[in-house]
Amino acid sequence: MKNIKLKYTDKGYSYIECTREDCFDWGGVGICDYCNKPMYKEVYLIFILGSAYCPECFNEWIKRSERDEEDLYLQKLNHKKWYSAHGFDVGEYK
Ligand SMILES: [Zn+2]
Repeated sequence: MKNIKLKYTDKGYSYIECTREDCFDWGGVGICDYCNKPMYKEVYLIFILGSAYCPECFNEWIKRSERDEEDLYLQKLNHKKWYSAHGFDVGEYK
């Protein structure tokens, strides 16, 4: 299990900035879930989308995403488990 710091967008959604190698470790194929292009640089793993995005798609998503209290509640309950299923120990609940 890899220790990593959970980050949050300005809308309150958690994500992890990781690498292509991490992606292979959790059984991913290193392809962006949004644009289907191979990810060679940073990989953004996002609980609320259940997806891994490349930097470009991540930045686009940040701009268009909206804060949703139900999503944030769901995130609070489940994200730590979900990230840990991808091999990341994100520390405390938040
Ligand atoms: Zn992409």
